[in-house]
Amino acid sequence: MVPVIALVGRPNVGKSTLFNRLTRSRDALVANVAGLTRDRKYGEGKIGASPYIVVDTGGISGDEEGIDSVMAEQSLAAIQEADIVLFLVDARAGLTAADEMIADHLRKQNKRYHLVLNKTDSIDADQAEADFAVLGFGEAFHIAAVHGRGVRGMIDGVLEEN
Ligand code: GDP
Ligand code: MG
Repeated sequence: MVPVIALVGRPNVGKSTLFNRLTRSRDALVANVAGLTRDRKYGEGKIGASPYIVVDTGGISGDEEGIDSVMAEQSLAAIQEADIVLFLVDARAGLTAADEMIADHLRKQNKRYHLVLNKTDSIDADQAEADFAVLGFGEAFHIAAVHGRGVRGMIDGVLEEN
């Protein structure tokens, strides 16, 4: 079975950028505008010898409250279908209330999830990680989706465990 990897996180953390890199396509809508990718988007990819399916998520309507305000229903559905959840945060922005809400949701799911610090280009990623330690998610992967740095190591790492 080809593992399904869901990319979740609040808007603008770099999910679609990572999706494009993992699928070597530019099909997912990448934009500065928060929440532009409104639907789940699937892509196939392969790093090394291991194939995977990756799911991009995003989009908020702005009308919801609580967890629904940071994760649209389709994001929650994507978590349900995934074998592995990559929880992306913005290493530059630091921990936000929305990140904490998503973390609370993930903890209640019976899923394998990994914390991924994105946008670690030209910052001290270890220092940034300290900010997220309060989540208790253990060691994070450090990546820069825009350059691809750390992406292969992350995928190798999560697929190895699968
Ligand atoms: P999404 O809303 O989570 O899907 O985020 P996007 O993939 O649309 O990215 C939001 C913004 O962050 C875009 O301007 C991206 O170019 C930028 N971005 C994504 N990854 C990185 C990264 O690794 N480093 C930096 N500096 N910017 C990034
Ligand atoms: Mg997006």
